[in-house]
Amino acid sequence: MKKSLVLFTLFSTMSLVSFAQTQMIAHRGAWKNTKVPQNSIASLLGAVNLKAWGSEFDVHLTKDDVLVVNHDNDFYGLDIATSTYEELLTKKHPNGESIPTAEAYLQEGLKHKGTKLIFELKTNKLGTERTLKSAELSIALVKKLKAEKAVEYIAFSYDACVKLRALDKSAMVHYLMGDKTPQEIKEAKLSGIDYHLAVYKKNPTWIKEAKTLKLKTNVWTVNKEEDMRYFIENKIDYISTDEPEALHSLLGK
Ligand code: MG
Repeated sequence: MKKSLVLFTLFSTMSLVSFAQTQMIAHRGAWKNTKVPQNSIASLLGAVNLKAWGSEFDVHLTKDDVLVVNHDNDFYGLDIATSTYEELLTKKHPNGESIPTAEAYLQEGLKHKGTKLIFELKTNKLGTERTLKSAELSIALVKKLKAEKAVEYIAFSYDACVKLRALDKSAMVHYLMGDKTPQEIKEAKLSGIDYHLAVYKKNPTWIKEAKTLKLKTNVWTVNKEEDMRYFIENKIDYISTDEPEALHSLLGK
């Protein structure tokens, strides 16, 4: 009886270890080695192809309240916050895609259930009011598409994180800036920390502390193999990388 209990405990622990393995998030999709534009639908499909746990993308708000996917504040020279969506359609990615709306991006992502959609809500350069408006529209869009289970939010704006939490009590919301302790994130009822790799190296206890507080841990942007190994060994939940192919083979997937 005792022996079987020991074996059962051992087996459960082993399962937990393999279950708790670090997962990969393709940062701005898979674009670097596939030679497609960052944040394009093609980059999302590249991440899906690699069976990434998640594919990250950046969401901005246009002047006329359309959520669009792009990293920089401008899309080939057109300032997103002060341009209308129609104006942005005058430019194209080199692969022929127009700037994707967040709606089109999510709809494409929802067709591929294996990959989570890591929705970075960008801080609007026109001020907090526009950033909070982006948060409201994002929650409404995700609700409309019934995409709640597929989407996890990340943001540098702490105000935006708090707003997202207030609007959806069960959404996964992770803070990016790196200036709050795991305890502060727990108290704000956010889901986890998603910090730059230098923040974790400066605060080597934070991964463990976050785990004790049942917070998720994610790190950006990890492109060197030695750093990938460091965070896998430290049992971080997610690694965001521009080199998903390299991390994929390191994780043995
Ligand atoms: Mg981003």
